[in-house]
Amino acid sequence: GAGLPGAASVIDRHPPFDVHAIRRDFPILQERVNGRQLVWFDNAATTHKPQSVIDRISYFYTHENSNIHRAAHELAARATDAYEGARERVQRFINAPDVNEVIFVRGTTEAINLVAKSWGAQHIGEGDEIIVSHLEHHANIVPWQQLATAKGARLRVMPVDDSGQILLDEYRQLLNARTKLVAVTQVSNALGTVTPIKEIVALARRAGVRTLVDGAQSISHMRVDVQELGADFFVFSGHKVFGPTGIGVVWGKREVLEDMPPWQGGGNMIADVTFEKTVFQPIPNKFEAGTGNIADAVGLGAAIDYVNRVGIDNIACYEHQLLEYGTEQLKRINGVRLIGTAADKASVMSFVLAGHSTEEVGRALNDEGVAVRTGHHCAQPILRRFGVETTVRPSLAFYNTHDEIDRLTTVIRRLAGQR
Ligand code: PLP
Repeated sequence: GAGLPGAASVIDRHPPFDVHAIRRDFPILQERVNGRQLVWFDNAATTHKPQSVIDRISYFYTHENSNIHRAAHELAARATDAYEGARERVQRFINAPDVNEVIFVRGTTEAINLVAKSWGAQHIGEGDEIIVSHLEHHANIVPWQQLATAKGARLRVMPVDDSGQILLDEYRQLLNARTKLVAVTQVSNALGTVTPIKEIVALARRAGVRTLVDGAQSISHMRVDVQELGADFFVFSGHKVFGPTGIGVVWGKREVLEDMPPWQGGGNMIADVTFEKTVFQPIPNKFEAGTGNIADAVGLGAAIDYVNRVGIDNIACYEHQLLEYGTEQLKRINGVRLIGTAADKASVMSFVLAGHSTEEVGRALNDEGVAVRTGHHCAQPILRRFGVETTVRPSLAFYNTHDEIDRLTTVIRRLAGQR
């Protein structure tokens, strides 16, 4: 409608990719921290929002706010159109064949729990096996472990090599007649490894095994095409792709979703209720009980519009240059040990610095206005695989610059006692 924000943006006037123009779309990047302009290298934890996303959410509450029940009144129709418009944006963004295969949830964690509680409860039994990789975020371990414990099933783990890449041959050996599900990440949040996800999915499919791809870290860094991936489920969080917190997506194949029982019951997901029996709505509503996060779904739609205007391929290409530059700079510093050196990586440069705790490094960076995550990154098994409990983890987005990497490496060099 008229006045809808986000149609025009600085980047439209600076094709194809001008990082300084892009930075002007993200107001938070002007923040000052300890007297310095903020450097945001905690993008794997969460990303910042362009003005168009902030404006879109504000527009929703100013002009469209209602619960989504289209027929009731004008604002209900506006809210419903905005919400369903966001679903269509997600569908196109991941190239899903059917808009009804897109289910809104709170985030990746809730998405995986939905699949575990619904599909898992129905299909996993005693003696069955679920395969994950050593790289997984806790969100793609714990729900499967809980399910396995409840059902007497077993969790198996694809190992990785010393670069942090999945060992496909070992994975092949794990697949057997008891395997029911392979759940694996497309990009590791702790190491940045880009996994050979197409091969992983293809091998599972050949064995008749269902697959879930954790796209929390891939969605903002590379083109995702769920039809090309061939998996049964693909999940991600809005806040990691420049959208709001509290909104995320389960994409699933229609026939798989239709066959699954609902996981939460209540309003919105029902077609008819008597005390004797409830008839459920078809997908996606069957899985969207209660009032969802309407405004933030709309905000996610605006974030996808923004990413599309920049171009996901432009983003991937620019970030790759940044990652190579940052990795080279870090490698030159004596005492830096990079954790995760796979040939195919995205966004993340995990490292430890000899003689300094990761907290110390994080504090020194924060003193200079540079935000990185230090800790276990909710991925303890993979860090322990490399003999560490924590790392320093700068993680990049397309609004970062080479100058910002220099600000990071200057601090690390000083800590390491080098010029
Ligand atoms: N999976 C991966 C690979 C992640 O990086 C994250 C977030 O850090 C999650 C799952 C969980 O996402 P959320 O906290 O948004 O539910």
